[in-house]
Amino acid sequence: MSVCYALPPLRGSAEHQGSLADFIWFRTGGPAEWLVRPEDSRDLAVFMAGLASDTPVLPVGVGSNLIVRDGGVPGVVVRLPKAMAKVSVEPDNRVRAGAGAMGITVASAARDAGIAGLEFLRGIPGTVGGAVRMNAGAYGRDTSDILIEATVVTRDGAVETWPAERLGYTYRHSALPAGAVVVEALFAGVPGDKAVIAAEMDRIAAEREASQPLRSRTGGSTFKNPEGHKAWALIDAAGCRGLRRGDAQVSEKHCNFLLNLGGASSADIEALGEEVRATVLAHSGISLEWEIQRVGVPA
Ligand SMILES: Cc1cc2nc3c(=O)[nH]c(=O)nc-3n(C[C@H](O)[C@H](O)[C@H](O)COP(=O)(O)OP(=O)(O)OC[C@H]3O[C@@H](n4cnc5c(N)ncnc54)[C@H](O)[C@@H]3O)c2cc1C
Repeated sequence: MSVCYALPPLRGSAEHQGSLADFIWFRTGGPAEWLVRPEDSRDLAVFMAGLASDTPVLPVGVGSNLIVRDGGVPGVVVRLPKAMAKVSVEPDNRVRAGAGAMGITVASAARDAGIAGLEFLRGIPGTVGGAVRMNAGAYGRDTSDILIEATVVTRDGAVETWPAERLGYTYRHSALPAGAVVVEALFAGVPGDKAVIAAEMDRIAAEREASQPLRSRTGGSTFKNPEGHKAWALIDAAGCRGLRRGDAQVSEKHCNFLLNLGGASSADIEALGEEVRATVLAHSGISLEWEIQRVGVPA
């Protein structure tokens, strides 16, 4: 990382060369030039307004859908603190969540209040911010189905509440501009029976445990499902199940997941992903599109 970016004042913390590999799921990759934890939305907004406009800003959640390249991330990486992870229930079967809250916390709060429709968040091991940005989904439901509005701190430091329609949702994609940080979301459910909701969440947890490498260093679904196809089935048919490159491996359990078996670099993981793409293209003529977000610069 050759360019050095200066920071405006902040009430929260800013760590130079802050480790990302300490917490992102793959446990690989270089540091953030600046790992910034604002104290609250106001702090973040003032900080962003004071930041030179050419300084790149990357929000992260818990890195459950990220490959951070080995040379690290230039500029500012924003990680939201616990104070921005509060979840509360509002009238009309609504749940308001700080963007740092985990999906399971939102689903659990909804269950306890007898609000159905948010159960799928139980199976997505990321934050509300990541889910709003990625249009995360499972079991036929996406974040776009439950989101009413999201509060966003824009790259120039404005705090704005965007109705879901403004996020331009498609499959695993939103039109959130680069550098904008989601700080809060308001979700809508429908009245439900607590026991039925709890049973559905338990079913999701058990199904996940059986089908996904949940206890491994992974990044979730590597590629988007192409229209009319399942990415895992294309990868399997192309003979890539278990394929290895150094300590990076295509999961035997779910072949749309890549694993770090221990000593893989991000370059190993990304190169393995590209090898899978090329093999699937040669086998089926279908070009897989990365779902995992690849960020930062190579070593
Ligand atoms: C075992 C496993 C199972 C998974 N199953 C599913 C699944 O069923 N369905 C599914 O959709 N995904 C799944 N994923 C992927 C992942 O959990 C989701 O994409 C999740 O929404 C990412 O959230 P995160 O907080 O970890 O975001 P990160 O991985 O940290 O970031 C992902 C993207 O979101 C952006 N982002 C993060 N926080 C914010 C914020 N506050 N404001 C703006 N942008 C932000 C980042 O810049 C990046 O572009 C799975 C992952 C794992 C490891």
